[in-house]
Amino acid sequence: MKRKPALKKILLLCLLAPVAFSLHSLSLDETLTQINSISNTKNVQFRWDPLFRSGIISSGDHFGAFTVAAKDGETGYLLLNNRELFNVPLPYNSGGRLDFPQAFVDTLKASFTRLHENDASRFRVSTIIIDPGHGGRDPGAVATHTINGKRTQVYEKDIVLSVGLALRDRLYEAYPDKRILMTRDTDVFRSLEQRSDMANAVEIKENESVIFISIHANASVNTNARGYEVWHITSGQRRQLINPTDNNYSADIKAILERMLEEEFTTESILLADRILQGFGHSFGSSLPSRGRKANDWFVVRNSRMPAILVELGFVSNRQDAVLMTSPEGLQKLTDSLYNGVTNFIGIFER
Ligand SMILES: [Zn+2]
Repeated sequence: MKRKPALKKILLLCLLAPVAFSLHSLSLDETLTQINSISNTKNVQFRWDPLFRSGIISSGDHFGAFTVAAKDGETGYLLLNNRELFNVPLPYNSGGRLDFPQAFVDTLKASFTRLHENDASRFRVSTIIIDPGHGGRDPGAVATHTINGKRTQVYEKDIVLSVGLALRDRLYEAYPDKRILMTRDTDVFRSLEQRSDMANAVEIKENESVIFISIHANASVNTNARGYEVWHITSGQRRQLINPTDNNYSADIKAILERMLEEEFTTESILLADRILQGFGHSFGSSLPSRGRKANDWFVVRNSRMPAILVELGFVSNRQDAVLMTSPEGLQKLTDSLYNGVTNFIGIFER
């Protein structure tokens, strides 16, 4: 209670201050020119609603909404992105044209600058690489089963290509702003070096990340072995994360940076692996067993400087799994599992 008079004084000052500072006003053109002059601004636009006598000035995805005052010096709210409120001297009608108090324009400029800076520093997945294993002269795991009364040769390379292509199409639709790449989209042979070279050649900006998803199917001499599993690299394993030809760093610094990046990628790879396992769990419940998350030194994954995982969809050597992985419904569910896992990971990663 003791503070009340002081608070009143501050409020009074706040109300008076804008009036005192709105001596200088700008035309609409001058206002837009000033906002356009912010270094990180983009696509500045003005929209006007005559019915509600309200306007919107936007820069890229961000916008400030306001109503027009009857006269110079009146204050009111500038509503930024429907979230933040600023009490400022409002634009007003001056002989048929709109005038913008400098304090109003300055608030908008500072807000857009800040919001665009936040955008630039936000992490995002820019590229998703889908790597269907094997292909061409390398069939991967092969087994023969009687499916629908017919002796059928089941090839890992075909299953993983079907799922890879379907996953690409789904992700392409969900993320028109991301690059969705495939290490192969036909039945061709690709060496492991070619796959990881392709992944490492992807150009990314600071704050951008690439994720790498290798798709395989399992095989075992034990034909009862079933289910899916997701592999990632262990943190103990050394990977060449920094380009060896990069001479900006001394050898010691390079080792430390590699170590740090490795830890980060490991954490992200584990997160991605877990989300994909969860995706499978939702799609299949107990109808397809989970063999869990595993860590190993996979070549493709090891040589990719990015969060990377390898999924084993199921066992080609098991009849039940083979039936699932060769039926349209089964392939659809496998694709759903990967898709839900990836989108879930991106949702968390980009938040
Ligand atoms: Zn394989």
